[in-house]
Amino acid sequence: MKFYGATDQGLTRPTNQDSYHIDADNCWAVVADGMGGHNGGETASTMAVDIIKSVMEKGEDPKEAILQANAQIYEKSLGNKELLGMGTTIVLAVVQDQKATIYHVGDSRAYLVKKGKLKQITTDHSIVQQLIESGTITKEQAKFHPQRNLITRAVGTEREVDIDKNEASFGEKDALLLCSDGLSSYVDKEEIEKILKASPVDEAVANLIKAANDKGGKDNITVVLIKA
Ligand code: CA
Repeated sequence: MKFYGATDQGLTRPTNQDSYHIDADNCWAVVADGMGGHNGGETASTMAVDIIKSVMEKGEDPKEAILQANAQIYEKSLGNKELLGMGTTIVLAVVQDQKATIYHVGDSRAYLVKKGKLKQITTDHSIVQQLIESGTITKEQAKFHPQRNLITRAVGTEREVDIDKNEASFGEKDALLLCSDGLSSYVDKEEIEKILKASPVDEAVANLIKAANDKGGKDNITVVLIKA
């Protein structure tokens, strides 16, 4: 199995509030997209990735790792006025025995790439996703909705957090794509498929980031690609 990942500040944000980590030996990776003023977003996503890494290295379950990240980020935010309300999305994938297990909170996504086609495994915890599900807006309208950046669930913003867990079969020819909304909100599915198809596997991540920057680079962009 091969892992590729990169994060990029984009072209308009003053800082990069995304973080990610790849543990190729133990076949897992995580992407976190932080939010919150001052240094809140950066602090939350960096803390989340560091805590998850250290808890996972002790052999704990990914869910337990995310819960510990939630508790510690929340605790830290209470003790610091500038960090109050900080939080982060999480999408974490563990891949083994031809199975991918995805844990997520927020709107960072996991896609299964099967025969060149993207299938979204995660369901965003976001305002626009709720509006789509209630039939208030269409998927097309969601792309330009003024509240498309607002998430309904985050790690670190409250004492408790619900974590979604999804499983997908992960065949020998499949790939898994994890990303922050800096990619998925600006480069659509068909375009991602095209880039994956046209790119040598070790250049795909860079080409996806470039595509988001070509659209204006309005957000931080993080991409992890796991190739079976
Ligand atoms: Ca973002």
